[in-house]
Amino acid sequence: MKSLKAQLHPLSESSQELKVLTDQVPAEKNFEYHLRGMNLFPLKPTQLEIFQINLGKMCNQVCKHCHVDAGPDRKEIMDWETMELCLAIIESEKGLHTVDLTGGAPEMNPHFRRLVTEIREIRPEIAILVRCNLTIILANPKFHDLPKFFKENRVEVISSLPYFTANRTDSQRGEGVFDKSIQALQLLNAEGYGMENSGLKLNLVYNPAGAFLPGSQSELEAEFKKKLRDRFQVEFNQLFTITNLPISRFLEYLLRSENFESYMEKLISAFNPAAALGVMCRNTLSIGWDGYLYDCDFNQMLDLKLESSCKHVSDWNNLALKDRSIVVNNHCFGCTAGAGSSCGGATT
Ligand code: SF4
Ligand code: SF4
Repeated sequence: MKSLKAQLHPLSESSQELKVLTDQVPAEKNFEYHLRGMNLFPLKPTQLEIFQINLGKMCNQVCKHCHVDAGPDRKEIMDWETMELCLAIIESEKGLHTVDLTGGAPEMNPHFRRLVTEIREIRPEIAILVRCNLTIILANPKFHDLPKFFKENRVEVISSLPYFTANRTDSQRGEGVFDKSIQALQLLNAEGYGMENSGLKLNLVYNPAGAFLPGSQSELEAEFKKKLRDRFQVEFNQLFTITNLPISRFLEYLLRSENFESYMEKLISAFNPAAALGVMCRNTLSIGWDGYLYDCDFNQMLDLKLESSCKHVSDWNNLALKDRSIVVNNHCFGCTAGAGSSCGGATT
């Protein structure tokens, strides 16, 4: 399977995605209208706490639902100069408590380890998260020591595992991904990740395999814990449920399977005001591989740049950023449906 970009698919253009998202949802039902109804428009940021850096679109997997349209055929990755600008911001913004490294497979960026060790050096107390797809650890001998590297630098590992069975996981993420993911989880457990009192966090992410909302996070976590322990002796800390946002490869699937309209209706009718108050874009910034700033990873993939005079890490201006209005569109219903959804799971 190739990325949408490599297929020259029309939906690899963000303008096409936005056209679908705006044209097919009537104005009296759109996201802005819902926010206005609760006096939350324009949506404003709160305190900046999470700095999410996308190290590139390169990935060893080509998952069906990928919102990044990542894959081995994507070559966009962050260079060291841009990382240095990010490091300066991490050093000066003391309100940041978390740096969240994502991709693609962030570990495939050749500067990944240097970035992690330098963040740890300048901010010993900060949480560093890596969104590790697990299979990367086994993909090449040069990645085999990643669990040790993560442990040495007290990196929290957060990994997608769509289900605790091979067929459902492989159908979403590719043939053989489940077995490799289990092996990688066992390697992480061997270093202490996910084990009681080790202080080394290993969290898993569940997202639905089709056009439906995730079930209860706590119930799914209990089920995953039992099944993974009984079948594979795998331990982990928390399970985060994430709603699939109707963008990129998941949008392509929704349109191809003629599920787009009904999925949007599901999201819209499950709009939860409490989840709208707690959307992650209010305390997070997302940095693209080329240094441009976005309100979140999803806006980044839709190329919806910040509405601010500060648009790039090279012209960082905290005051201008605080003043901005968050850019929203109908994909945002994915963050406010039901129990809410964010990169850290349910929000209510
Ligand atoms: S592992 Fe993650 S980034 Fe890579 S293709 Fe799958 S969902 Fe996308
Ligand atoms: S998609 Fe992004 S901008 Fe929209 S509500 Fe979610 S986090 Fe905020």
